[in-house]
Amino acid sequence: MNSQIPKTFHVKSFGCQMNVYDGARMTELLEAEGMKASADVGAADLVVLNTCHIRERAVDKIYSDIGRLRRDDGSRPMIAVAGCVAQAEGGEIPRRAPIVDIVVGPQAYHRLPELVAKAGRGEPALDTDMPIESKFGELPARRRQGPSAFLTIQEGCDKFCTYCVVPYTRGAEVSRGWSAILDEARALIDLGAKEITLLGQNVNAWTGEDEAGRIQGMDGLARALDRLNGLERIRYMTSHPSDMTDGLIRAHAEVEKLMPFLHLPVQSGNDRVLKAMNRSHAIHDYLDIIDRVRAARPDIAISGDFIVGFPGEKDSEFEDTLKIVEAVNYAQAYSFKYSPRPGTPAADMDEQVPAELMDERLQRLQALINQQQLEFNQAIVGRRTSVLLERQGKKPGQLIGKTPWLQSVHLETTAVVGDMVEVEILSAGPNSLAGAEFMKDAA
Ligand code: SF4
Repeated sequence: MNSQIPKTFHVKSFGCQMNVYDGARMTELLEAEGMKASADVGAADLVVLNTCHIRERAVDKIYSDIGRLRRDDGSRPMIAVAGCVAQAEGGEIPRRAPIVDIVVGPQAYHRLPELVAKAGRGEPALDTDMPIESKFGELPARRRQGPSAFLTIQEGCDKFCTYCVVPYTRGAEVSRGWSAILDEARALIDLGAKEITLLGQNVNAWTGEDEAGRIQGMDGLARALDRLNGLERIRYMTSHPSDMTDGLIRAHAEVEKLMPFLHLPVQSGNDRVLKAMNRSHAIHDYLDIIDRVRAARPDIAISGDFIVGFPGEKDSEFEDTLKIVEAVNYAQAYSFKYSPRPGTPAADMDEQVPAELMDERLQRLQALINQQQLEFNQAIVGRRTSVLLERQGKKPGQLIGKTPWLQSVHLETTAVVGDMVEVEILSAGPNSLAGAEFMKDAA
């Protein structure tokens, strides 16, 4: 038991962008309590592990990370476990790792200061509530997030894909209010954000009433953000094919600041597997959406998610996954081996696919995806594009930024982080581009 009220803290986030967003909000919360953020986990009085529950390995890793927080002199920081593992495992965590002082779920972290005080008094500090009151209203004002900021607009999921824990760890779908989102966006812009990425487990399921009482979908929200001065780019993730509305597709043609990038997971290329996954759409629905989005915005970059080795997946069904990758031709895509999650229907399904077969399928899929990503990057060589400079590069005078298609570009420049510059792309690699700033007056 660590009885000191911490003066310094370190938040370490794992997993998705929503965890990164929650990590930033927990940092602002603890700073508002007068604590100081420490970049060095080994020097912090309080360490918050903001966890991900998506794959088995992620959970095991948390317990080994907890063990590593004990210091050579036998001392240790106050330890808080937050995020989806906290929600899923709750009181099991201090039972399995007694040095954990606090367990707090993703919907209750606005109460972290109280939990720290409780732990400081040596009381049990466990909160995995899914409270009625939204945490967002209890959180302090935003603090500087850099030129590109995340903004959570929707949480939870009602889809219940048979392999996924999110509906159990993040709860039912909840859309944040229209004015709360616009207020937070204005605050981020005032703090220097030029780009905002709207986040949600099913972000395109967001719905809400605007200031005139009209029901809006995410396309309406994108149009309202498009009118905010100072904002130059709008992105959103992660979407579900079943919530891709005509309005959102039209927005890709009409909303100037909406970037030509769509992350749309499909998971498998086979209808029987999609049904067993409870993905609530067929392959032709997905391909139809891709066609309509490309008609609306011909230069749009498509990104996807894939799972190989879902229980019962036959060789021919995996071949269907390769076929859809070839058909869509992705700019990038994430791919994973199926990982049975406790409490999900798929974990109890028969015909679990052997690990070596999963490895072989993942290798073949990733080889195809990497080839497509390289070709997508090579296609922009010799062209000029806008780049939002986001951070320092490794070399002196080198900065790194993103194209509208979310490609990383590194270049030597006298411009600064936060500037939007015109860049000529000189060369392309699988994961990044090299460019040179295009000086208008030199042309
Ligand atoms: S849509 Fe499916 S995979 Fe995505 S968060 Fe919901 S249940 Fe999980």
